[in-house]
Amino acid sequence: MSYETSNREIEELIRRRLGDDEEAARILTLIRNLYQERKKREFDFSTISEVAEEINVRCLDLAKTENYATSLLMGQFGVFQVSFLRQPHFASDEIVASRPRKQQPLPTFTRNGSFGRWLAISTAPILLEEVPDARTEHPELEQMFQQEVRLCLPLIRGGSPPGEGLVGCVCLGKRMTGQDYAPPDLEFLWILGRLVAVALHNAHLHHRAQIDSLTGVYSRGYFDVHLIEEFQRAMRSKREDEEYPFSHPVSLVMLDIDHFKDFNTLYGHPVGDAVLQSTALLLKKSVRLLDTVTRYGGEEFAIILPDTTKEHAAALAERLRQQIEKHRIDVDGNPALQVTASFGVATYPEDGTDLQSLVIQADQALYQAKDGGRNRVESAN
Ligand code: GH3
Ligand code: MG
Ligand code: MG
Repeated sequence: MSYETSNREIEELIRRRLGDDEEAARILTLIRNLYQERKKREFDFSTISEVAEEINVRCLDLAKTENYATSLLMGQFGVFQVSFLRQPHFASDEIVASRPRKQQPLPTFTRNGSFGRWLAISTAPILLEEVPDARTEHPELEQMFQQEVRLCLPLIRGGSPPGEGLVGCVCLGKRMTGQDYAPPDLEFLWILGRLVAVALHNAHLHHRAQIDSLTGVYSRGYFDVHLIEEFQRAMRSKREDEEYPFSHPVSLVMLDIDHFKDFNTLYGHPVGDAVLQSTALLLKKSVRLLDTVTRYGGEEFAIILPDTTKEHAAALAERLRQQIEKHRIDVDGNPALQVTASFGVATYPEDGTDLQSLVIQADQALYQAKDGGRNRVESAN
């Protein structure tokens, strides 16, 4: 039986027993209020489950999580100004605006500073009008207030020790309707803050797992996963056209720094590390946005080039080779350093019908380049 039906039945029973006097009317009003309250709770619950699901779907991606939460807050509360302040990366003690705006500078603070610690123990959404003393004590809060922030929602991961687990906060401006944030709004925001905090933390962890910590390019693990994706995309693009049977060929460039061991021996490992970092940065800056630079291992890098023919991949490899050769690396206390690298290029479909053979072909081409005297590019034949 639905609530509506049982509600009607209860109302009828009360009327029959108590008639139409004032007391009966009062009881009926109370029951209706309870019923409305119950309906609202049900609505809130289904909104929260929907939001939790949507955030879960995006929880490995910082930007997607943030974009979703921003549009949800704008829609749900009718507010234009929604800004995220958060850790720029997993291990950072700093909390900064994720999209800094010149016209509306928001504070930067540390998790362990006095404001960060205050936020971490506040946990609940903070209405800035209601905490004038805290605004006097924390210039960050006053700065938010000056920038027309009306509510500050701390993002805290549940399950972490009290006072820890702060990953950032969301700043909300005035509502377009002029209404205040009411207690049920604050309850909803509290739950949302918890969900978003965990999602951001997971996104940071996920990102960290994909990135090589020394060089900042993608890791070997990411290479394995991403190459499968690009390979499948290339396979799906097979056409009947004999001249161009694939509309999305995928190329692989592998490169290995020449005589790097001697380099380490001569200058020491920290200098070797700096050379790897500098070379990785050069590679990252020299490829298209769609290309993926990865550290395949040690002093070897692999670059995945979607929609790229072998001819174009070889041309890119040659350009990279020249850039590396010309590049001078400054490491404190050393003369400007220089390295060269050898390159191997292979392309799907012509150099292999499966992933493993594509990688083997690129690797063999690289070893031909080494055998041929180093500092050169070879394509799989
Ligand atoms: P080749 O021209 O034949 O490639 O000679 P190579 O000396 O570069 O090659 P080899 O494989 O003999 O040595 C690679 C060296 O790279 C050995 C290893 O100590 C060094 N290496 C690998 N990873 C790192 C790293 O993360 N940091 C530093 N500093 N060195 C590394
Ligand atoms: Mg080497
Ligand atoms: Mg090597």
